[in-house]
Amino acid sequence: HGDIVKVPILGNESIILGFHLISFIAADLVQNVKASTYVVITDSNIASLHLSPVVSAMKAAMETQGSTSRIMSRVIKPGELSKSRVTKAALEDWLLSEVCTRDTCLIALGGGVIGDLVGFVAATFMRGIPFVQVPTTLLAMVDSSIGGKTAIDTPHGKNLIGAFWQPKRIYMNLSFLSSLPKREFVNGMAEVIKTACIWSLNDFIKLEEGVEKIQDAVLKGVEDNVTGSTVETRTEGQCLLLDVIVSSARVKAHVVTVDERETGLRGLLNYGHSIGHAIEAILAPEVLHGECVAIGMIQEAELSYSLGHLGSASIERISRCLSSYGLPISLEDERLLCRSNGKPCPVNNLMDNMRIDKKNSGSTKKIVLLSAIGKTLEQKASAVNDEAIEAVLKA
Ligand code: NAD
Ligand code: ZN
Repeated sequence: HGDIVKVPILGNESIILGFHLISFIAADLVQNVKASTYVVITDSNIASLHLSPVVSAMKAAMETQGSTSRIMSRVIKPGELSKSRVTKAALEDWLLSEVCTRDTCLIALGGGVIGDLVGFVAATFMRGIPFVQVPTTLLAMVDSSIGGKTAIDTPHGKNLIGAFWQPKRIYMNLSFLSSLPKREFVNGMAEVIKTACIWSLNDFIKLEEGVEKIQDAVLKGVEDNVTGSTVETRTEGQCLLLDVIVSSARVKAHVVTVDERETGLRGLLNYGHSIGHAIEAILAPEVLHGECVAIGMIQEAELSYSLGHLGSASIERISRCLSSYGLPISLEDERLLCRSNGKPCPVNNLMDNMRIDKKNSGSTKKIVLLSAIGKTLEQKASAVNDEAIEAVLKA
């Protein structure tokens, strides 16, 4: 298969990317991730679009390789509410009723909700069983499927119960993206732009210059050109899309490899998230994570500027790049106000929300500061005093 790209993580080349990977995924699983039962778990939006090709390919691969394993699938409700104890327990009870044993492999086919939930089920079922990630959203490809953080939500907050549990493989089949709603694509672009901002001016320039080509490759190019994305016939946009996703995934994989449990370097991935999460706590679920993070990136860049570390031209450039993909850059953004129904985000509420950030040490807030596009002030989040943060939020 000359059509795939592999990216190493934690010492293995287990991130595999390409445009039409379904039969490759099935063959690789049956041959190299042996299990007596494979269970595909997905949500109903994705199931109607992409489940049956995956199941058929698994059956074909088993037939070809003379495997007698079982293949089953389970569909849950889409949405963040499914990342719950209730859904987890229901899945577990179903697996038990189907007599799934320790040699079961779970296949998380979906966005971050499916990935986080299925990963956490895998982490605790029979004290831990293998699972693989098959991300279907851009956000899941460049962010949530990589790194082994799995979790469910509780009434006290998101992701509060979970485990580190690494998937055996992460398969990024880019053709899945062609069915993604535009707003979900834009949501994922926030993380792609974030990663370029902390790591690579070169990647950032590709994003600045490639707006139309990248958008087209996701939202129509892949579908228009189903047979046309082999190495020889890929469009320029498809090459660029693959390049951008590979670069972003590579940075996350590298950072996770160096700092799996997030004690330093991995914290850089939280650029835009300290303030972004504080906004999200007020405006979710009407406003999406990436939309809040985009605003957080600008306000944290302004914080870097106000502390004398970043030039104002860099803020301009980051703003322009985010906007060009359709992301908001301030709380006054028209579409954002429309989605949130004008709900206010008072500075003292934002400050309160930032107090409970997992990254803080004691009462001192830790925020990722930029020193240039593609560079951070430190190799970790920096301690910042409340007055400086408040001043930026009030501006
Ligand atoms: P999601 O999983 O809810 O997917 C978004 C929507 O798109 C859903 O309605 C889904 O059904 C639909 N969808 C998915 N793929 C599709 C496709 N190919 N075509 C059409 N529709 C499709 O949301 P998400 O943004 O992928 O993930 C968000 C979750 O990820 C949050 O719970 C967040 O906490 C988690 N997350 C985890 C990590 C981590 O490190 N584990 C990192 C970031 C985010
Ligand atoms: Zn994020």
